[in-house]
Amino acid sequence: MNIIDEVLKEADSRKNEIVKLVQELIRHKTVNPPGDTSDIAGFMKDYLSKRGLSVKLYESEKGKVSVVATLKGRGKRRFIWDGHVDVVPATPEAWTVDPWEGKIVDSRIMGRGAADMKGNVGAAMAAATILAEKDVKLEGDLVLALVPDEETGGYLGTGYLLDKGMLKGDACIVGEFSPFNTLCVAEKGILWLKVKARGIPAHASAKFLGVNAIDMLNRFLSELYKIEEVDRKLPKEVNKIIDAIQPVLKQLESLGFPRDVMDNLYKRLSVSVGMISGGEKVNIVPANAEAEVDIRILPGMDYELIKEEINQIRKNYNKLLEKTYPNLKAAGIEGITAGETLRFDPSYQKLDAPLVPLIKNAIQKVSGREPLLFMHTGGTDTRFFRAKGIPAICYGAGSETAHGNNEYVPIEGLIEVTKIYALATMDFLGTT
Ligand SMILES: [Zn+2]
Repeated sequence: MNIIDEVLKEADSRKNEIVKLVQELIRHKTVNPPGDTSDIAGFMKDYLSKRGLSVKLYESEKGKVSVVATLKGRGKRRFIWDGHVDVVPATPEAWTVDPWEGKIVDSRIMGRGAADMKGNVGAAMAAATILAEKDVKLEGDLVLALVPDEETGGYLGTGYLLDKGMLKGDACIVGEFSPFNTLCVAEKGILWLKVKARGIPAHASAKFLGVNAIDMLNRFLSELYKIEEVDRKLPKEVNKIIDAIQPVLKQLESLGFPRDVMDNLYKRLSVSVGMISGGEKVNIVPANAEAEVDIRILPGMDYELIKEEINQIRKNYNKLLEKTYPNLKAAGIEGITAGETLRFDPSYQKLDAPLVPLIKNAIQKVSGREPLLFMHTGGTDTRFFRAKGIPAICYGAGSETAHGNNEYVPIEGLIEVTKIYALATMDFLGTT
């Protein structure tokens, strides 16, 4: 039997071991916030060092512990597998099982983090273990980065490791769940703005003496929504990706998702006002109001330019306010201000990078399926690798229950993905 077949067979025979490992990871309650990963990092370090990997821990801030585990090969190339071990909170009353137990129901492991993404972390640890214990002679290093903080931005996990030079490599798989068995090659960007309106209070019965901050905010937000209508040119590479994801969109269409919803999702910038507050009492003209706005852009769009557009809209609107309400100007009040509270830039992987066909081949060899390409609408740690020029894609098992109640990962998917991670590593680094 050749080494590839041996490795694939080994993943099947280690099914119980892989399931136990994932259950153990789920039992470490790494809810973020606060997202303390010290205990689970200790566990992963022991597990991997016992199996022949050299392991280092890095603590970016108290409790934010990353594991970087290396399976040494002969050459200089390094293949990174990256995954996070922090999870979002769970409401046990809303679950049919204990979210922290890792119970098996209908060939699925259930628990918070099963799909996002301790299942795939377990699979990657298992793949590295198999390569180590089968003594596969890799022509380069396999590096596992098992990180905290992804659910709160990733800056203290993957972002930190890459910025400080503790994590280096030539290509990377981020093991996030990729829906519909796809390979995710791009992701949208996220910008959050806090918009504040300041007016002048007055008795509601004599409202003309004041300036209503809620009205001001409301009208400004209507202006802001106009940025959705602007036609935006995308780079050629991104248009290629949008073409490449069409087969998945067609599948979704056949499942009942309206075409125009998908066109909106994958062709344009979107603005969504998520929170709004203001006023003190119904009979007082409100002096203050604020809104939090979520703006998503496609890869190839630029937040700096979009922020300039928004700023221009804001300036024009403030000028109009000054004209309409001379008392605002007299009081030296700037009607609308806006500030960024969070930003993830969008990112994409050029389709001609060797990594893309390599992972596709691994998926096809293991599963028999030709994987389609897709784009995440949310942000993942993949963007940090792309920002450093390291080719990166997302691939992992899971289910649509990520972040939801009764989250699960199918056991069959875990074994499959263990094989795919092992095969992709061997293929990228080469073996002797
Ligand atoms: Zn995740």
